[in-house]
Amino acid sequence: MTGLGRATAPLDAADLVVVGAGVVGLGAALRAADAGLDVVVVERDAAALGASVRNFGHGCVTAQDGEALRLARATRELWVRLAREAGFWLAESGAVVAARHDDEMAVLADLAAARADEVALLDGAAVEEAAGCPGAVGGARLSSDVRVSPREAVPALAALLARRGVRFHWRTAVVGVDERGVETSRGRVDAARQVVAVGHDVDLLDAGLAEEAGVVRCALRMLRVRDPRRAPSPAAAGGRALPALLTGWSLLRYDAFAVSPALGAVRERLARERPDALAVGLHLMCTQRPDGDLVVGDTHAYGDAPSPFRPEDLDDLLLDEVAALLGTDRPRVVERWEGVYASAPRPFLLSAPRPSTRVVSVTAGIGMTTGLGLAAEAVDQLAS
Ligand SMILES: Cc1cc2nc3c(=O)[nH]c(=O)nc-3n(C[C@H](O)[C@H](O)[C@H](O)COP(=O)(O)OP(=O)(O)OC[C@H]3O[C@@H](n4cnc5c(N)ncnc54)[C@H](O)[C@@H]3O)c2cc1C
Repeated sequence: MTGLGRATAPLDAADLVVVGAGVVGLGAALRAADAGLDVVVVERDAAALGASVRNFGHGCVTAQDGEALRLARATRELWVRLAREAGFWLAESGAVVAARHDDEMAVLADLAAARADEVALLDGAAVEEAAGCPGAVGGARLSSDVRVSPREAVPALAALLARRGVRFHWRTAVVGVDERGVETSRGRVDAARQVVAVGHDVDLLDAGLAEEAGVVRCALRMLRVRDPRRAPSPAAAGGRALPALLTGWSLLRYDAFAVSPALGAVRERLARERPDALAVGLHLMCTQRPDGDLVVGDTHAYGDAPSPFRPEDLDDLLLDEVAALLGTDRPRVVERWEGVYASAPRPFLLSAPRPSTRVVSVTAGIGMTTGLGLAAEAVDQLAS
Protein backbone atom coordinates (compact mmCIF):
# COMPACT_ATOMS: atom_id res chain seq x y z
CA MET A 1 0.00 0.00 0.00
CA THR A 2 1.18 3.56 -0.66
CA GLY A 3 0.20 6.53 1.50
CA LEU A 4 -2.75 7.07 -0.87
CA GLY A 5 -3.92 3.51 -0.32
CA ARG A 6 -2.99 2.24 -3.78
CA ALA A 7 -1.99 -1.42 -3.80
CA THR A 8 1.71 -2.01 -4.49
CA ALA A 9 4.13 -4.88 -4.16
CA PRO A 10 6.01 -4.90 -0.84
CA LEU A 11 9.07 -2.65 -1.16
CA ASP A 12 11.50 -4.53 1.06
CA ALA A 13 11.89 -6.66 4.19
CA ALA A 14 14.61 -6.61 6.85
CA ASP A 15 15.31 -7.28 10.53
CA LEU A 16 15.24 -3.56 11.33
CA VAL A 17 13.96 -0.52 9.46
CA VAL A 18 15.25 3.00 10.13
CA VAL A 19 13.17 6.05 9.17
CA GLY A 20 15.39 9.05 8.36
CA ALA A 21 18.96 9.19 7.01
CA GLY A 22 20.31 12.02 9.16
CA VAL A 23 23.09 11.41 11.62
CA VAL A 24 20.74 9.77 14.13
CA GLY A 25 19.19 7.40 11.57
CA LEU A 26 22.60 6.52 10.16
CA GLY A 27 23.89 5.95 13.70
CA ALA A 28 21.03 3.50 14.29
CA ALA A 29 21.73 1.72 11.00
CA LEU A 30 25.41 1.47 11.92
CA ARG A 31 24.71 -0.07 15.33
CA ALA A 32 22.24 -2.54 13.86
CA ALA A 33 24.63 -3.51 11.04
CA ASP A 34 27.45 -3.92 13.59
CA ALA A 35 25.14 -6.30 15.47
CA GLY A 36 24.73 -8.39 12.32
CA LEU A 37 21.14 -7.34 11.54
CA ASP A 38 19.76 -6.91 8.03
CA VAL A 39 18.92 -3.17 7.84
CA VAL A 40 16.84 -0.94 5.57
CA VAL A 41 16.89 2.89 5.77
CA VAL A 42 13.93 4.85 4.36
CA GLU A 43 14.56 8.56 3.64
CA ARG A 44 12.03 11.04 2.32
CA ASP A 45 14.56 13.14 0.39
CA ALA A 46 16.95 12.15 -2.39
CA ALA A 47 19.86 12.55 0.06
CA ALA A 48 20.26 13.64 3.67
CA LEU A 49 19.42 17.35 3.43
CA GLY A 50 18.31 18.12 6.99
CA ALA A 51 20.04 19.41 10.09
CA SER A 52 22.78 16.79 9.77
CA VAL A 53 24.34 18.43 6.71
CA ARG A 54 23.62 22.05 7.67
CA ASN A 55 25.56 22.33 10.93
CA PHE A 56 29.07 23.35 12.03
CA GLY A 57 30.18 19.73 12.25
CA HIS A 58 31.40 20.51 15.73
CA GLY A 59 31.57 17.59 18.15
CA CYS A 60 31.26 19.83 21.18
CA VAL A 61 32.23 17.15 23.68
CA THR A 62 34.01 18.97 26.48
CA ALA A 63 31.28 21.51 27.18
CA GLN A 64 28.62 18.83 27.81
CA ASP A 65 27.65 17.49 31.18
CA GLY A 66 25.79 14.48 32.61
CA GLU A 67 24.02 12.21 30.10
CA ALA A 68 25.03 14.45 27.19
CA LEU A 69 28.71 14.12 28.14
CA ARG A 70 28.42 10.33 28.29
CA LEU A 71 26.74 10.23 24.86
CA ALA A 72 29.22 12.78 23.48
CA ARG A 73 32.18 10.61 24.45
CA ALA A 74 30.58 7.55 22.83
CA THR A 75 29.77 9.58 19.71
CA ARG A 76 33.31 10.99 19.50
CA GLU A 77 34.74 7.45 19.45
CA LEU A 78 32.36 6.54 16.63
CA TRP A 79 33.22 9.64 14.56
CA VAL A 80 36.94 8.82 14.81
CA ARG A 81 36.33 5.21 13.79
CA LEU A 82 33.96 6.18 10.95
CA ALA A 83 36.29 8.84 9.52
CA ARG A 84 38.90 6.11 9.17
CA GLU A 85 36.50 3.51 7.72
CA ALA A 86 34.56 5.85 5.42
CA GLY A 87 37.51 8.11 4.54
CA PHE A 88 36.00 11.49 5.45
CA TRP A 89 37.82 14.48 6.97
CA LEU A 90 37.91 14.72 10.76
CA ALA A 91 39.93 17.19 12.84
CA GLU A 92 40.87 16.34 16.41
CA SER A 93 41.75 19.98 16.84
CA GLY A 94 39.67 20.68 19.95
CA ALA A 95 37.99 24.02 20.50
CA VAL A 96 39.09 27.36 21.93
CA VAL A 97 36.70 29.54 23.89
CA ALA A 98 37.77 33.18 23.53
CA ALA A 99 36.92 35.18 26.67
CA ARG A 100 36.49 38.85 25.89
CA HIS A 101 35.46 39.87 29.42
CA ASP A 102 36.77 39.02 32.88
CA ASP A 103 33.46 37.44 33.91
CA GLU A 104 33.78 34.98 31.00
CA MET A 105 37.32 34.15 32.11
CA ALA A 106 36.00 33.45 35.62
CA VAL A 107 33.54 30.89 34.21
CA LEU A 108 36.32 29.21 32.23
CA ALA A 109 38.54 29.09 35.32
CA ASP A 110 35.79 27.30 37.25
CA LEU A 111 35.35 24.76 34.45
CA ALA A 112 39.12 24.22 34.23
CA ALA A 113 39.23 23.57 37.98
CA ALA A 114 36.44 21.00 37.66
CA ARG A 115 37.73 19.32 34.47
CA ALA A 116 41.52 19.77 34.48
CA ASP A 117 42.00 16.71 32.25
CA GLU A 118 40.38 18.36 29.21
CA VAL A 119 40.18 22.12 29.88
CA ALA A 120 43.34 24.26 29.86
CA LEU A 121 43.29 28.01 30.51
CA LEU A 122 45.00 30.27 27.96
CA ASP A 123 46.15 33.89 28.11
CA GLY A 124 45.13 36.36 25.40
CA ALA A 125 48.28 35.81 23.34
CA ALA A 126 47.76 32.05 23.39
CA VAL A 127 44.15 32.48 22.19
CA GLU A 128 45.41 34.58 19.28
CA GLU A 129 48.14 32.08 18.48
CA ALA A 130 45.86 29.01 18.66
CA ALA A 131 42.67 30.34 17.10
CA GLY A 132 43.61 33.54 15.25
CA CYS A 133 41.39 35.59 17.53
CA PRO A 134 43.04 38.80 18.73
CA GLY A 135 41.97 40.95 21.65
CA ALA A 136 40.71 38.25 24.00
CA VAL A 137 41.52 38.68 27.69
CA GLY A 138 42.16 34.94 27.76
CA GLY A 139 40.35 31.72 27.05
CA ALA A 140 40.35 27.98 27.36
CA ARG A 141 41.25 25.06 25.14
CA LEU A 142 38.67 22.27 25.18
CA SER A 143 40.79 19.36 24.07
CA SER A 144 38.22 16.59 23.48
CA ASP A 145 36.23 18.43 20.79
CA VAL A 146 36.34 17.06 17.24
CA ARG A 147 35.06 18.30 13.92
CA VAL A 148 33.83 16.87 10.64
CA SER A 149 32.60 18.57 7.49
CA PRO A 150 28.95 17.50 7.64
CA ARG A 151 28.10 17.91 3.98
CA GLU A 152 30.84 15.40 3.14
CA ALA A 153 30.80 13.20 6.25
CA VAL A 154 27.09 12.33 6.24
CA PRO A 155 26.94 11.10 2.61
CA ALA A 156 30.23 9.25 3.16
CA LEU A 157 28.73 7.49 6.16
CA ALA A 158 25.66 6.49 4.12
CA ALA A 159 27.94 5.19 1.36
CA LEU A 160 29.95 3.16 3.90
CA LEU A 161 26.74 1.61 5.25
CA ALA A 162 25.56 0.80 1.72
CA ARG A 163 28.89 -0.97 1.05
CA ARG A 164 28.25 -2.96 4.21
CA GLY A 165 24.89 -4.16 2.88
CA VAL A 166 22.45 -1.64 4.40
CA ARG A 167 19.74 -0.95 1.79
CA PHE A 168 18.63 2.67 1.30
CA HIS A 169 15.28 3.74 -0.17
CA TRP A 170 15.68 7.45 -1.02
CA ARG A 171 12.80 9.73 -2.06
CA THR A 172 10.52 7.47 -0.06
CA ALA A 173 8.38 8.93 2.71
CA VAL A 174 7.22 6.86 5.66
CA VAL A 175 3.54 7.50 6.33
CA GLY A 176 2.89 5.01 9.13
CA VAL A 177 4.71 2.71 11.55
CA ASP A 178 3.34 -0.46 13.17
CA GLU A 179 4.77 -3.47 15.00
CA ARG A 180 5.51 -5.31 11.75
CA GLY A 181 7.21 -2.52 9.78
CA VAL A 182 6.43 0.75 7.98
CA GLU A 183 4.11 1.97 5.23
CA THR A 184 5.88 4.19 2.71
CA SER A 185 5.07 6.18 -0.41
CA ARG A 186 6.46 3.25 -2.42
CA GLY A 187 4.88 0.37 -0.51
CA ARG A 188 5.49 -1.56 2.65
CA VAL A 189 8.77 -2.45 4.36
CA ASP A 190 8.38 -5.42 6.71
CA ALA A 191 10.70 -5.38 9.71
CA ALA A 192 10.06 -6.63 13.24
CA ARG A 193 12.02 -3.70 14.70
CA GLN A 194 11.59 -0.03 13.78
CA VAL A 195 13.69 3.03 14.62
CA VAL A 196 12.10 6.40 13.84
CA ALA A 197 14.81 9.08 13.53
CA VAL A 198 13.08 11.96 11.75
CA GLY A 199 14.57 14.85 13.76
CA HIS A 200 12.15 17.75 14.26
CA ASP A 201 9.52 16.11 12.01
CA VAL A 202 8.53 13.68 14.76
CA ASP A 203 5.29 15.69 15.13
CA LEU A 204 4.31 14.81 11.55
CA LEU A 205 4.29 11.09 12.43
CA ASP A 206 2.88 11.40 15.95
CA ALA A 207 1.71 14.85 17.02
CA GLY A 208 0.69 13.66 20.48
CA LEU A 209 4.09 12.17 21.24
CA ALA A 210 5.86 15.34 20.08
CA GLU A 211 3.53 17.55 22.12
CA GLU A 212 3.99 15.45 25.28
CA ALA A 213 7.76 15.85 24.94
CA GLY A 214 7.39 19.57 24.15
CA VAL A 215 9.20 19.29 20.79
CA VAL A 216 9.28 22.51 18.78
CA ARG A 217 11.41 23.64 15.85
CA CYS A 218 14.49 25.80 16.22
CA ALA A 219 15.60 27.66 13.08
CA LEU A 220 19.19 28.87 12.77
CA ARG A 221 20.88 31.25 10.35
CA MET A 222 24.31 30.17 9.03
CA LEU A 223 26.95 31.62 6.72
CA ARG A 224 30.00 30.30 4.93
CA VAL A 225 32.58 33.06 4.48
CA ARG A 226 36.08 33.46 3.07
CA ASP A 227 38.48 33.65 6.00
CA PRO A 228 39.37 37.36 6.17
CA ARG A 229 42.65 36.45 7.93
CA ARG A 230 43.52 34.04 5.11
CA ALA A 231 44.63 31.41 7.62
CA PRO A 232 46.05 28.38 5.82
CA SER A 233 43.48 25.65 5.11
CA PRO A 234 44.02 22.31 6.83
CA ALA A 235 45.19 20.95 3.47
CA ALA A 236 47.82 23.71 3.19
CA ALA A 237 48.80 23.33 6.86
CA GLY A 238 49.72 19.65 6.58
CA GLY A 239 46.32 18.56 7.92
CA ARG A 240 46.36 20.84 10.97
CA ALA A 241 43.00 22.57 11.37
CA LEU A 242 42.25 25.61 13.47
CA PRO A 243 40.27 24.69 16.59
CA ALA A 244 36.57 25.51 16.61
CA LEU A 245 36.21 29.03 17.99
CA LEU A 246 33.60 29.57 20.70
CA THR A 247 32.79 32.80 22.55
CA GLY A 248 31.13 34.11 25.70
CA TRP A 249 27.76 33.39 24.06
CA SER A 250 28.67 29.67 24.14
CA LEU A 251 28.82 29.81 27.94
CA LEU A 252 25.05 30.37 27.98
CA ARG A 253 24.40 27.40 25.68
CA TYR A 254 26.35 24.41 27.02
CA ASP A 255 25.67 22.69 30.34
CA ALA A 256 29.25 22.21 31.56
CA PHE A 257 29.62 25.95 32.15
CA ALA A 258 26.76 25.83 34.69
CA VAL A 259 29.36 24.57 37.16
CA SER A 260 30.41 28.20 37.61
CA PRO A 261 28.70 30.64 39.99
CA ALA A 262 30.10 33.39 37.72
CA LEU A 263 27.79 32.39 34.85
CA GLY A 264 24.97 34.59 36.15
CA ALA A 265 27.17 37.67 35.80
CA VAL A 266 27.91 36.80 32.14
CA ARG A 267 24.21 36.32 31.43
CA GLU A 268 23.27 39.61 33.13
CA ARG A 269 25.98 41.60 31.34
CA LEU A 270 25.08 40.23 27.91
CA ALA A 271 21.39 40.95 28.57
CA ARG A 272 22.28 44.50 29.59
CA GLU A 273 24.82 45.24 26.84
CA ARG A 274 23.40 43.21 23.93
CA PRO A 275 19.60 42.88 24.15
CA ASP A 276 19.53 43.00 20.31
CA ALA A 277 21.75 39.91 20.01
CA LEU A 278 20.04 38.10 22.86
CA ALA A 279 16.63 38.67 21.24
CA VAL A 280 17.70 36.77 18.11
CA GLY A 281 19.41 34.00 20.09
CA LEU A 282 22.93 34.85 18.93
CA HIS A 283 25.50 32.14 19.55
CA LEU A 284 28.66 33.46 17.96
CA MET A 285 30.98 30.67 16.85
CA CYS A 286 33.08 29.76 13.89
CA THR A 287 34.63 26.61 12.45
CA GLN A 288 37.19 26.19 9.70
CA ARG A 289 36.27 23.92 6.80
CA PRO A 290 38.79 21.60 5.15
CA ASP A 291 39.09 24.11 2.27
CA GLY A 292 39.87 26.99 4.65
CA ASP A 293 36.49 28.76 4.47
CA LEU A 294 34.78 29.50 7.77
CA VAL A 295 31.30 28.38 8.80
CA VAL A 296 29.94 31.11 11.06
CA GLY A 297 26.74 31.45 12.98
CA ASP A 298 24.28 31.42 14.40
CA THR A 299 20.92 32.80 15.53
CA HIS A 300 18.02 30.86 17.03
CA ALA A 301 14.24 31.23 16.52
CA TYR A 302 12.00 28.78 18.39
CA GLY A 303 8.41 27.80 17.58
CA ASP A 304 6.14 25.53 15.55
CA ALA A 305 6.35 27.59 12.37
CA PRO A 306 9.75 29.13 11.65
CA SER A 307 9.21 32.11 9.37
CA PRO A 308 10.23 31.48 5.75
CA PHE A 309 11.16 35.18 5.47
CA ARG A 310 14.73 35.81 6.43
CA PRO A 311 15.56 39.37 7.44
CA GLU A 312 18.92 40.49 6.08
CA ASP A 313 19.77 42.30 9.31
CA LEU A 314 20.35 38.94 11.01
CA ASP A 315 23.18 38.27 8.57
CA ASP A 316 24.46 41.83 9.05
CA LEU A 317 24.57 41.24 12.78
CA LEU A 318 26.44 37.96 12.34
CA LEU A 319 28.97 39.48 9.94
CA ASP A 320 29.65 42.44 12.24
CA GLU A 321 30.12 40.08 15.18
CA VAL A 322 32.50 37.86 13.21
CA ALA A 323 34.52 40.86 12.06
CA ALA A 324 34.82 42.10 15.65
CA LEU A 325 35.80 38.63 16.87
CA LEU A 326 38.50 38.14 14.24
CA GLY A 327 39.67 41.78 14.25
CA THR A 328 39.07 42.16 10.50
CA ASP A 329 36.74 43.79 8.01
CA ARG A 330 33.45 42.04 7.29
CA PRO A 331 34.24 38.73 5.56
CA ARG A 332 32.93 37.91 2.09
CA VAL A 333 29.90 35.63 2.16
CA VAL A 334 30.13 32.51 -0.02
CA GLU A 335 26.91 30.74 1.02
CA ARG A 336 23.89 31.44 3.25
CA TRP A 337 21.45 28.89 4.60
CA GLU A 338 19.03 28.09 7.34
CA GLY A 339 18.86 24.90 9.37
CA VAL A 340 16.19 23.54 11.67
CA TYR A 341 16.61 21.19 14.59
CA ALA A 342 14.28 19.71 17.21
CA SER A 343 14.18 21.50 20.55
CA ALA A 344 12.46 20.43 23.79
CA PRO A 345 12.86 20.99 27.54
CA ARG A 346 14.90 17.75 27.76
CA PRO A 347 17.84 17.30 25.35
CA PHE A 348 17.01 13.74 24.25
CA LEU A 349 13.83 11.99 23.14
CA LEU A 350 13.98 8.20 23.29
CA SER A 351 10.45 6.89 23.35
CA ALA A 352 8.97 3.37 23.05
CA PRO A 353 5.40 3.66 21.73
CA ARG A 354 5.41 -0.18 21.53
CA PRO A 355 8.04 -2.85 22.27
CA SER A 356 9.21 -3.07 18.65
CA THR A 357 9.55 0.70 17.99
CA ARG A 358 11.93 3.38 19.23
CA VAL A 359 11.44 7.05 18.38
CA VAL A 360 14.74 8.84 18.82
CA SER A 361 15.67 12.48 18.42
CA VAL A 362 18.26 14.86 19.84
CA THR A 363 16.05 17.69 21.05
CA ALA A 364 18.82 20.28 21.49
CA GLY A 365 21.48 21.63 19.14
CA ILE A 366 23.95 18.85 19.95
CA GLY A 367 23.02 16.04 17.57
CA MET A 368 26.43 15.90 15.87
CA THR A 369 27.99 15.70 19.33
CA THR A 370 25.69 13.04 20.80
CA GLY A 371 23.50 11.57 18.03
CA LEU A 372 25.54 8.49 17.11
CA GLY A 373 25.72 7.45 20.75
CA LEU A 374 22.01 8.05 21.37
CA ALA A 375 21.05 6.09 18.24
CA ALA A 376 23.19 3.15 19.38
CA GLU A 377 21.33 3.09 22.69
CA ALA A 378 17.97 3.03 20.87
CA VAL A 379 19.04 -0.01 18.84
CA ASP A 380 20.49 -1.73 21.92
CA GLN A 381 17.12 -1.36 23.67
CA LEU A 382 15.42 -3.12 20.76
CA ALA A 383 18.05 -5.84 20.66
CA SER A 384 17.56 -6.59 24.35
C1 LIG B 1 22.38 25.22 11.66
C2 LIG B 1 22.64 24.11 12.63
C3 LIG B 1 23.87 24.04 13.28
C4 LIG B 1 24.13 23.00 14.17
N1 LIG B 1 25.38 22.85 14.69
C5 LIG B 1 25.66 21.74 15.42
C6 LIG B 1 26.99 21.46 15.83
O1 LIG B 1 27.94 22.12 15.43
N2 LIG B 1 27.19 20.42 16.67
C7 LIG B 1 26.17 19.61 17.07
O2 LIG B 1 26.41 18.68 17.85
N3 LIG B 1 24.92 19.77 16.60
C8 LIG B 1 24.64 20.81 15.79
N4 LIG B 1 23.39 21.00 15.31
C9 LIG B 1 22.34 20.01 15.65
C10 LIG B 1 22.44 18.76 14.78
O3 LIG B 1 22.71 19.12 13.44
C11 LIG B 1 21.15 17.97 14.87
O4 LIG B 1 20.85 17.72 16.25
C12 LIG B 1 21.24 16.62 14.16
O5 LIG B 1 21.76 16.76 12.87
C13 LIG B 1 19.88 15.96 14.10
O6 LIG B 1 20.01 14.78 13.36
P1 LIG B 1 18.73 13.95 12.93
O7 LIG B 1 19.23 12.76 12.19
O8 LIG B 1 17.88 13.72 14.13
O9 LIG B 1 17.90 14.96 12.03
P2 LIG B 1 18.00 15.32 10.47
O10 LIG B 1 19.39 15.50 10.04
O11 LIG B 1 17.06 16.45 10.25
O12 LIG B 1 17.48 14.01 9.76
C14 LIG B 1 16.13 13.58 9.81
C15 LIG B 1 15.84 12.94 8.47
O13 LIG B 1 14.55 12.34 8.53
C16 LIG B 1 13.96 12.49 7.25
N5 LIG B 1 12.50 12.32 7.40
C17 LIG B 1 11.65 13.10 8.09
N6 LIG B 1 10.41 12.60 8.01
C18 LIG B 1 10.47 11.49 7.24
C19 LIG B 1 9.49 10.54 6.79
N7 LIG B 1 8.21 10.63 7.14
N8 LIG B 1 9.90 9.53 6.00
C20 LIG B 1 11.21 9.43 5.65
N9 LIG B 1 12.17 10.28 6.04
C21 LIG B 1 11.81 11.31 6.84
C22 LIG B 1 14.34 13.89 6.83
O14 LIG B 1 14.21 14.08 5.44
C23 LIG B 1 15.78 13.96 7.33
O15 LIG B 1 16.72 13.58 6.34
C24 LIG B 1 23.11 22.03 14.44
C25 LIG B 1 21.88 22.11 13.79
C26 LIG B 1 21.64 23.13 12.88
C27 LIG B 1 20.32 23.18 12.18
